[in-house]
Amino acid sequence: MKPILAIYPGSFDPVTNGHLDLIERGSKIFDRLVVAVLRNVEKTPLFSTEERCEMLREVTRVFSNVEIDLFDGLLVDYVNRRNAQVILRGIRAISDYEYELQMAMMNRRLAPQIETVFMLPAEAYSYLSARLVREIAQLGGPVHGLVPAVVEERLRIKASP
Ligand code: ADP
Repeated sequence: MKPILAIYPGSFDPVTNGHLDLIERGSKIFDRLVVAVLRNVEKTPLFSTEERCEMLREVTRVFSNVEIDLFDGLLVDYVNRRNAQVILRGIRAISDYEYELQMAMMNRRLAPQIETVFMLPAEAYSYLSARLVREIAQLGGPVHGLVPAVVEERLRIKASP
């Protein structure tokens, strides 16, 4: 059997404990997992792509089969370029399902040999999104327990005047 390489794409602005939960689960079932940071998705991201990658590298150092990379353009082109077989995505609630289904079906149409695999985070992270974390931090609220400590510290620095 060929080793399975999975790509976990997203904006990770910033990486949350929900993302990390998924990375840990993914690293256990795939031979290798690449967390792929999408460049320039949002016009005004809070963290630059380099900062997002730095934080991801720091918090995934414990997983020996996890790698951090950047990509832009069509996801399926990147997945093919990396010779990966799987796209990993997280589903938090029913509300994620419709969008994720649409994306997965379109990606299947574009590249039928690639499988999208969905994983569920621990229940505690099922309402957690990077957007909410950004909003809370920018308004000076506590994000402890929602993001890794290094991210919490960087958010604190960003939010301070
Ligand atoms: P967000 O939706 O938090 O802004 P991304 O766009 O970076 O994050 O999401 C990348 C992938 O991670 C998506 O598949 C998304 O559903 C998943 N994801 C994001 N937050 C969580 C979470 N708390 N639990 C599980 N999966 C998540």
